[in-house]
Amino acid sequence: MGTVTSTSPAAPGDVVGEFAEADAGAVVAVLEAARHAARGWGSGPAHQRARALHHAADAVEGAAGDLTELVVREVGKPLTEARGELARAVSILRYYAQQALDPDGETYPAADGRSLLMARRHPHGVAGLITPWNFPVAIPLWKAAPALAFGNAVVWKPSPDAAATAAALADVLGPALPEAVLSVVQGGGETGRALVDGADCVSFTGSVAVGTEVAVAATRRGVPAQAEMGGLNASVVMPDADLSRAAATVASAAMGYAGQKCTATSRVVVVGDPRPFTEALVAAVEGLPVGDPAREETVVGPVIRADAAQAVLNAARRATADSGTVVTGGRRGEGDGHWVAPTLVVGLTPDADLAQHEVFGPIAALLRARDAEEAVRIANDVSYGLVTALFTRDLDWALDLANRFETGMVKVNAATSGVDFHAPFGGEKRSSIGPREQGKAARDFYTASRTIALSPSA
Ligand code: NAD
Repeated sequence: MGTVTSTSPAAPGDVVGEFAEADAGAVVAVLEAARHAARGWGSGPAHQRARALHHAADAVEGAAGDLTELVVREVGKPLTEARGELARAVSILRYYAQQALDPDGETYPAADGRSLLMARRHPHGVAGLITPWNFPVAIPLWKAAPALAFGNAVVWKPSPDAAATAAALADVLGPALPEAVLSVVQGGGETGRALVDGADCVSFTGSVAVGTEVAVAATRRGVPAQAEMGGLNASVVMPDADLSRAAATVASAAMGYAGQKCTATSRVVVVGDPRPFTEALVAAVEGLPVGDPAREETVVGPVIRADAAQAVLNAARRATADSGTVVTGGRRGEGDGHWVAPTLVVGLTPDADLAQHEVFGPIAALLRARDAEEAVRIANDVSYGLVTALFTRDLDWALDLANRFETGMVKVNAATSGVDFHAPFGGEKRSSIGPREQGKAARDFYTASRTIALSPSA
């Protein structure tokens, strides 16, 4: 079996981690140990799970400085954002520590008025988690924390591009949890497939192509699957919006962390005369601090790999061939790292490649709409459906349009990016398969409901 090697996107010669890949046999062995551990963990008192998750939160809080540095080095996340991700991780663990003590079912009135009719939730056993590299701490924990709180053991396959962060996080969490309740298997697609072949439920975050394959494979086995995938999120700017505030918000939603968030804005739909907003947006994008992610002020760091940088440049080139105009960016940044200048393209029609396919980098298309109706049509006319932002001061527009965007989340006068971990998270269309993540919704995925009727013996 091979080796997983992760390097720093800001300094590709810097090898951050090297790990042996877990082959199918190794994954089966880890799953077996996890299944054994799940029995005691899931049937034990809920307050023990709550306490363990609080200890896990304390441990992550204590290691937050080191983990932040590792996230910056391994995936090129700007320091301020990486700090925020660690703080969120601690909050997620505490939030689900409390949920371990929530009611675990409901009672219903029985037909005879005497029996006890109830629906109780129980854990699946072993939750198989497959995660991307871009939120290497928060995404694994927003899956693992509820999985554990509700009594499952976890086997987690992180992205090879975030392997060292995963190993360090697992080391930090380990002492808070019983043996084999949380395990990491390092590797790529083969390791992921082996996990999908053996877990009792599968939660995936990543690209549409892989997520769809994972969900199909798990469903064939008859185990619950959930896949959170790509986005092609629109920010719709109405003529009455506060243009400079909207421009600043859209610039960071599109280009922050080099556009590598599933919730990043990649299409900007401007209603009415596009010129004043385009000017404001170009100025806002050009004003974003680009550079070393380890610097406090950096907003745009490198992209994850050399092929990701090339994909952004190719997309800009294709957009030009589609009669678009690159108004800023469209070139590599300076230095050895995988730098690409934040790129805006105008003049495309909504069916252009850049306006239809996720690139996952610092590039966005500015599209024109005559009126609100056309803006809704453009926003919805893609196969993705994660999040839409609307910028307006008009309450009627806000109320009307917020209900018509075909996305799992809608933000008014706020960035498409940014997630509230205590609210349900997920998309429509090809962006999501299965129940929502986060908030109280997570329990529905990590447990199954059993209806039990108890009647008097005579
Ligand atoms: P990816 O799909 O390439 O990889 C995701 C994970 O799947 C990795 O751990 C990878 O090793 C694993 N994998 C690859 N092939 C597999 C297979 N055949 N079977 C099982 N597992 C397999 O995605 P990525 O490049 O790591 O992340 C970027 C993508 O993630 C973007 O499309 C982005 O929009 C999406 N994303 C979505 C969300 C969300 O919540 N909707 C959040 C973050 C990122």
